[in-house]
Amino acid sequence: MKKKLPPDFKAMCEENAECGMDGARPSPWICHVCDHKSQTGEGVACTVCYKTTCGLHLKHVSAYNPASGLYELQPVCIFCVGAKLH
Ligand SMILES: [Zn+2]
Ligand SMILES: [Zn+2]
Repeated sequence: MKKKLPPDFKAMCEENAECGMDGARPSPWICHVCDHKSQTGEGVACTVCYKTTCGLHLKHVSAYNPASGLYELQPVCIFCVGAKLH
């Protein structure tokens, strides 16, 4: 015997993006380069502009970290990579 959720339970859940279903609905993200929308996988924030970027439009560049005194690989979107190179 299958139990179905009452229809308004789902409606409530969709209205409230922060409904209490822990981890069941990962927050959707959108790539600011290609407008790719996803609720799965990872959107990574660019370390320069802090915008969410999909894996295709993110490069890892070595950047100097004054806190550690080391060059570290940091995720940077292709816009910011291009801006740095020019
Ligand atoms: Zn993208
Ligand atoms: Zn960026």
